[in-house]
Amino acid sequence: MKTDVLGVGIDNLTQAEALDAGWALLKEDSFHYIVTPNPEFILAAKRDENFRHTLNNAALALPDGIGVVYAAKILGRPLQGRCPGVDFAQALMARMALEGGALFLLGAKPGVAEQAAENLRQAHPGLNICGVHDGYFREDKPVVEKIKASGADVVFVCLGAPKQELWMAQNGPLTGAKLAIGLGGCLDVFAGNVQRAPEGWQKAGLEWLYRLIKEPSRIGRMAKLPLILVDALGARLGGK
Ligand code: UDP
Repeated sequence: MKTDVLGVGIDNLTQAEALDAGWALLKEDSFHYIVTPNPEFILAAKRDENFRHTLNNAALALPDGIGVVYAAKILGRPLQGRCPGVDFAQALMARMALEGGALFLLGAKPGVAEQAAENLRQAHPGLNICGVHDGYFREDKPVVEKIKASGADVVFVCLGAPKQELWMAQNGPLTGAKLAIGLGGCLDVFAGNVQRAPEGWQKAGLEWLYRLIKEPSRIGRMAKLPLILVDALGARLGGK
């Protein structure tokens, strides 16, 4: 059962439970996709019905941002905690390195996925990265064909939201993969181009502040984020 956070269903799982749930999806016969909503997703989904449906049709929706956790708390439906997409991806790769499965990296600027693959192979010895493709393509079909030919079981789709979610829902079933995960800017992190916040900042729920200090140009995007808390408060007071 998902927890409703302003119209978007979020799975209330610990990080370990999320990994088990993701792993179980890999064992199923049909294709599934996983989304990692942050406050920006929830605000966008309010205005964009197609995006909201796509998020709500995901097999798993993991709360990537601390703002989603705060909003759920204000709504009176607390979540167990944050489940950042980047941590979920790392845990899944660690398991794939041990137990098998082929991974395809899709997204980011040309060259980034190649660099990410190199770093990830070193970080997870035994991990089978079966192919990569940048995220700036015009036609879906050649990309779908490339993933299919690679024999991928899992695809990390890193095209930014809502593009990556719509892409997974539409094209995922055609790739032959079992699982696609929308992971935003993760390939930039894996390639070493973007630094994550130190652990202390992450634990304090201040990863967003660290990112803002590193990339001040995000201020315009981030300034809207407190709106999710205002919306949550409005919904709570309105008895929703
Ligand atoms: N991106 C892409 N294709 C596009 C637009 C974006 O591959 O058409 C990539 C972009 O290069 C970046 C990622 O998608 O690596 C999304 O970055 P963003 O900062 O929006 O994601 P967030 O970190 O907020 O999840």
